[in-house]
Amino acid sequence: MTRLTRADLEALPSYVPGRNVADLARELGIAEAIKLASNEVPYGPLPGVPEAVAEAVAAAHRYPDMGVLALRDKLADRYGVAADRIVTGCGSVALAEILAKTTCLPGDEILYSWRSFEAYPIVTAGVGAASVRVPNTPGHGHDLRAMADAITERTRLAFVCNPNNPTGTAVRAADIDRFLDAVPSDVLVVLDEAYREFVTDAEVPDALTRYGDRPNVVVLRTLSKAWGLAGLRIGFLVAQPEVATAVRKVLTPFSTSLVAQAAAIAALDAGDEVRRRCALVVAERQRVTEGLRKLSVEVPDSQANFVWLPLGERSAEFGAACEGRGVIVRPFQPDGVRVTIGTPEENDAFLAAAEAALT
Ligand code: PMP
Repeated sequence: MTRLTRADLEALPSYVPGRNVADLARELGIAEAIKLASNEVPYGPLPGVPEAVAEAVAAAHRYPDMGVLALRDKLADRYGVAADRIVTGCGSVALAEILAKTTCLPGDEILYSWRSFEAYPIVTAGVGAASVRVPNTPGHGHDLRAMADAITERTRLAFVCNPNNPTGTAVRAADIDRFLDAVPSDVLVVLDEAYREFVTDAEVPDALTRYGDRPNVVVLRTLSKAWGLAGLRIGFLVAQPEVATAVRKVLTPFSTSLVAQAAAIAALDAGDEVRRRCALVVAERQRVTEGLRKLSVEVPDSQANFVWLPLGERSAEFGAACEGRGVIVRPFQPDGVRVTIGTPEENDAFLAAAEAALT
């Protein structure tokens, strides 16, 4: 048969989304299953978001503002960066993809720690680049020294996921400083801060304030997590103006929808509610971590809205056992299981399922 698609994509693992809650509930014959598998926050939209969305929909027959001016101004204000350095996209994962397109030709290399965000290998393969994966430290974090050593003249892009998905660990300022000093100036470093709002360790830097001025650093943020807009698909990056201009050239036109722009503006206007919600998640993160440690699971300290259970070969079995009790978690066989922090009741249900699975 004639081949219509690239042969190298056959071996590429697909992105696996968390299992559908309604499906599981139906299968188990229960009223509702609990999903703790996609690092969403367990709360509804922030105040003002539903109204802004409804209003935006009235103009749905028009294309959105391709320049995303109102939202970029709002982000510029909030984060103290010039608006021409901001690019928004259909989720930060789309921006990661576009950064690969902006920097790499086939045969170039993209560097990242492993395990980390499962989209990095997909983004890399998408542009025909080669993945260079540096194993996580025994403590499940980035080994930034080894990452610096793994850079070759073909390296064009490096992802540093901070805090790291799926392990929740975070690298501190001194280590990132050293890494950035070691990286050649023609390698673009993406500091992926999808979970920044959940960080409580004062030594874990806010990349926008600490590294925003470095010419070869791009900071990636999302409104999917703390800001509760996962379903509307919106993220943004902050780069130097020349990098931002190049990124805009390969950006899919109109990829930040009218509704996403309006919702993001309303979410950013929602005042202290985001901080309050993040504090609840952080308190629950501590409680879930302690509960799991009592069950002898060596959970690393998390700086994100999820925790990591390094269960090795038992990961898939543990995931299945939780599902059997109506709780969807995310096993990454053969390394571990990632569990999102939900409401206190959801977390209780997970801890009960974990206890049943592990004892
Ligand atoms: N970066 C990291 C580290 C993530 O975990 C995720 C979502 N799982 C993303 C980026 C992408 O998020 P979104 O596309 O929803 O902005």
